[in-house]
Parts: sequence; structure tokens; C-alpha cells
Amino acid sequence: MARDFYENYIKNRMREKSVDKPDFLAVSKDEIAQSIADSILSKMNYNATKFDPTLYDLVITDGMVIVPGIGITNSNIGIRDGKIASITNMTIHGNRAINDRNMYVCPGIIYPHVHLGLFSPFEVEVETETKAAIAGGVTTAGCFFGSQVSHLESFPELERSIQMRSYIDIIPHLVIGNTMQKRELKAYAEQLGITSFKLYMNGIPGIIEDIGDGFMLDVFDEIKKISKPCMVCVHTENREVVRRATSSIQDTMNESATMRDWTETHPDMAEEEAVNRLSYFAKKMGVHVYIVHLSSKGAVKNLKAIKADNPYVHVETTSPYLSINHTTTSSNLIKMEPPFRGAEDMEALWEGICNGVVDTIGTDNVTMTTSEKNVKADNIWHVMPGYPAVETHLPVLLHEGVHTRKIPIEKIIEKVTRNPAEMFGVYPQKGSMLTGSDADITIIDMNKSKKVTAKDLHSRSDFSLYEGKVLHGWPIITIKSGKVVYEGEKFTGEKAQCNYLRR
Ligand SMILES: [Zn+2]
Repeated sequence: MARDFYENYIKNRMREKSVDKPDFLAVSKDEIAQSIADSILSKMNYNATKFDPTLYDLVITDGMVIVPGIGITNSNIGIRDGKIASITNMTIHGNRAINDRNMYVCPGIIYPHVHLGLFSPFEVEVETETKAAIAGGVTTAGCFFGSQVSHLESFPELERSIQMRSYIDIIPHLVIGNTMQKRELKAYAEQLGITSFKLYMNGIPGIIEDIGDGFMLDVFDEIKKISKPCMVCVHTENREVVRRATSSIQDTMNESATMRDWTETHPDMAEEEAVNRLSYFAKKMGVHVYIVHLSSKGAVKNLKAIKADNPYVHVETTSPYLSINHTTTSSNLIKMEPPFRGAEDMEALWEGICNGVVDTIGTDNVTMTTSEKNVKADNIWHVMPGYPAVETHLPVLLHEGVHTRKIPIEKIIEKVTRNPAEMFGVYPQKGSMLTGSDADITIIDMNKSKKVTAKDLHSRSDFSLYEGKVLHGWPIITIKSGKVVYEGEKFTGEKAQCNYLRR
């Protein structure tokens, strides 16, 4: 099933390049019915007609429903047994009804890229940070897991923590960093149902080992032996270029280096060259790759040309890279790898969102406090890279993308729901508003304004990159597996049983 949808995804991407698709599409009832028939009911084995067709556990009426990849429609949603049981123009009733014609109703946000458990135990953060995610409208997260030992050994414990504590579903991505893990790729796919992996072309000295091209090609060879569709996520920077620039800045600036100098330690050239090389290998080997956290204007430009005839390359950027650059602040809080770049890079990434170079938007969240980040260190070299961003992700995209840059909301939503779901093999169970999909739903009020302050956010962290900033456009209700878990700025006390998504 997954392969089928994946192939459709590739075809659609190729088609998008040749056809001028209007951004805003009014969807008729017939089109939705057709789409349901085509893509969902026949594949998901869900029989919506065995119930009273007008009575549901929960109904959402009169909202502007965003069906990613199709458009926006004024339809009613019926939810039963944790699934979307109906999307219809008929009047429907439920044990509970949510009604508001001024709100957008969309699939629960899926963010493809977070790290949990780095500065405090995973079993702690899988609770605190996924709860914060729910408050930010996020219902599924792709989470990277590194391990010194075999993932077959370390993953079961993580799975237990997810089942016991997580408020959202998790798509695990396994970091492949040594020969044993490389040999076990097939076992990870077959035994654990995990089909997305991570390679670091450039790591973080002392924390994450990087790998060379030979290792990467060996991984691609192993991937080709796996019968399920796989995705290889790659941190894409040329490590030699980064090392050379870093030691040059350290030698000349030493203790007086600023955050602006930090940007120079990871030159644009490092990312530009690495996306070219990776894309070339991916096409040559026929392996799908997913470039994480794209940051530079030059790499956007390169990828625009590359993606025109290379269907193996998929691109993510992050909401922080789309909203912060080194000209807006020089605070140690923004130390990050790759670094925050200039205003032009930020606008180039938005252009990439509009023209299809960028497929998905993540956060690269690493939860840490100001003391764990060592923000007060007397020089930048002792400050840790990373930031928390789970809860502000969607509001930042709505504020910066929809309000400020006038990008249609359905375009943004597609990149944080359907696209990541398709790339990581969980569509249409996730990332869809059609019959049979999981009833993970985010309701958005584009007119709501709120000032960000870390103490109101739910992360265990004590800072936000957006402290004091007023953002327009917030999720106001989060529904997970048919349960209203967050509403009116409060957790309702309901919690859905969550798990990792086996593929
Ligand atoms: Zn990351």
C-alpha cells in the first residue's frame, strides 16, 4: 500500500512542474467524493456505512476544511472511533459538535524533524515536549534516534516510553553511524517497521560522528535490498569546508568571535556543494533522499535546477530558518548548525516554499534550557547549538507565511501534513482529511494574536527564540485520535493512546 501512494506522490510532483495549478481551489462535493473513492476507501479497508450515517462521536461543522493537495471546502466532518468517518455537505450530528465558520480545520500537523532526549532523558521529553507539541497543533512528529549500539537493542525501550507517555504519534528515523547499524538496515525495516534513516555528511564535533561518501554509498546499497520504500535523511554539508572555515575563524577571532562569525564557520558553499553531491549519488543509485534543514539561498538555487529532473531528492527547511536571521539578533540563543544565515537566505527559502523546491517544514527542535545551552558562556565556542521550537512551529508559519507573505494557507498546510506523511510512508493514515484517516485534527484561528513568552509555553525549556513577539494565527483546538485534547489554551485531561508508526 505504502509503495503505491509513494509512486503517486512522485508522479504528482513531476506533474506539478508542468501544469500551472491554481493556488486556491474551491472543491466541490463531487470532487471530494471522487477523491475519497479513488484514494482512501478502497485502500484503507474502512467501512463508514456500517453505522448510522448521520450520528458521530464528534462533528466539526461549517469550518473551512483544508484537504491537502485538493483545496479548501466548506464541509462537515464526522468522527467515529478515532477515525474520520465522513466529510460531507449533509447535515450531521454527533455527541459533541464544534461549530465555527471562521476557523480552518486541517489534518493534525506532522513535523518531520525533532530531537528528543538529548539534554534530559527521552522518557522525560517524550512526555513534556509532545504535550507542548499538542498545544501547538502538532499530532505526529518524526523523531531522530541515535545509538552507539544496535537499534534492535536500544529501540524497544524507546517504544515503551512512547506508548506510556507520548501525547502524539512518532515516526522514528534511525541514525546510521557505524558499520553494524549499516549491516542491520534491512532488519530495522523488516523487524521494527522503520524505513527512514539519517546520515550526517557533517556532524557535530564530539557529539555526532560524520560519515564519508563511501559509507553513504554503502548505505544506499543496503537500502536497495529492502523491499519497502525507504527514505534516507541527510544532514547536507561538506565537512571539509566546515572544518577549514571553523579553524580559520578560530585562529583569527578566537575568544572575540561573535554569532555573525559563527555563521562564517559553516559557509554557504558547504551546503551548496553537499546538496549537489548528494543529489547526484541519489539519482545515480536510485535511492530517495531527504535533505534536512536547508538553510542557504545558494542551495535553494542549486536544488531548483536539480529537482527539475531528479525525482529522488526531497527537501525540508525549518520554521526557525524561515523566521530568524543573523541580522535580527546577535544573541547566543541562536547558535545553531547549520547557522542562521542572512535575510536574503530567509527569503530564498520562502521562495522555495512557493515554487516547490521545499517540500516540507520541520523545526530541528532540540529541547534545552538556557543553562544547558550555556548561553552565558564567555565566548561563542562554548555555547551549545540548538533550540526548542515545538509549540511555536505552526504559529510562526501562519504569521510569517500566511499573514506577512500572503502565501495561501493550504500551501503551507500541505507542507506540514500531507507532504511529510507521504515521504515517510504514513499517508493517508496521516496528513489527510478524507474518510478512513486517523482523526488527528488541528483547528486554526487566523485572527488570534498572542505574544510569545516561554513561561506560557509547555516545553520543559525556559526560553523561546520568539520571546516577546506577537504572532497572528494560532491553533485553538487539537484533536488526537478523535479526542479533543487541547482547547481554550488548556489541556482537557483527555489523552489518546499513542505509538510509533510502523511502516
Ligand atoms: Zn536535526
